[in-house]
Amino acid sequence: MTKLTDNNTLRELTSVSQGQPSSDGDGVKLTRLIGNPQIDMLDPFLLFDHFESEQANDYIGGFPSHPHRGFETVTYMLAGKMRHKDNAGNEGVIAANGVQWMTAGKGIIHSEMPEQESGLLKGFQLWVNLPKTHKMSEPNYQEFPANEVAIEQGDDGSEIRVIAGTTNKGTTGPVINHHVKPTYLDVHLPAGTQFEQSLATTDNAFIFVIQGSILVGSSDNKLDKNQLGILSKGDLVTVTASSENSQFLLISGKPLNEEVARDGPFVMNTKAEVMQAFQDFKNNDF
Ligand code: FE
Repeated sequence: MTKLTDNNTLRELTSVSQGQPSSDGDGVKLTRLIGNPQIDMLDPFLLFDHFESEQANDYIGGFPSHPHRGFETVTYMLAGKMRHKDNAGNEGVIAANGVQWMTAGKGIIHSEMPEQESGLLKGFQLWVNLPKTHKMSEPNYQEFPANEVAIEQGDDGSEIRVIAGTTNKGTTGPVINHHVKPTYLDVHLPAGTQFEQSLATTDNAFIFVIQGSILVGSSDNKLDKNQLGILSKGDLVTVTASSENSQFLLISGKPLNEEVARDGPFVMNTKAEVMQAFQDFKNNDF
């Protein structure tokens, strides 16, 4: 197989991790893959959580009313449903293969609760930082059900669900973000098939394997189910599905290279701004 394309710098795995078992909200069990002691952040990504359980006790408490300021939360569901409600009267349900890209900006108070009392709930939450100039912007939602997420099908049986960014064959996802120009792909590869994606050379990027196992880069380093792999800088990601049908997320974004001051649900540039966020929340000024 040909892997080295002229003038391309292939991205290789630089670290592999399993994340940290955690709980958040009202006792929701999850695995924190970014935003843990091992990986504090991967600029502009502040946090990446995976939740997956068929046991209602692991998720039924949900994430009751809580604030956010200074960044974006991205919820992508694979199974089950989550209902969100905020203090501005926005409300909706995110179901399987649907995505909500929420810009908290200067402040949102919302709840995210399972819309089910049994069965599998599986999905991801990613936090994307906002630049200093946009931390206090008006809150905004980009919400797309499964049928509004772009799907690219390959002759080899592959399928790419494009939430953000553009594939090498030109399929563009619905989410718009001019700050970090994200790529967010959900890639399904039949056993033994290959995938290539060009990325801006200096963007930070990672892969999370949902199903099966994959081989990454020129040296075919293996990444297994439920592992997160951080990629080196470079302009091309190459992946081959191993002997099983495989599925993974490929996520990338432009680093903001700004100071980060974070505490709980607030992510600002300075400690004083975080203190101000706590004060504003306490004073009902969100
Ligand atoms: Fe939230």
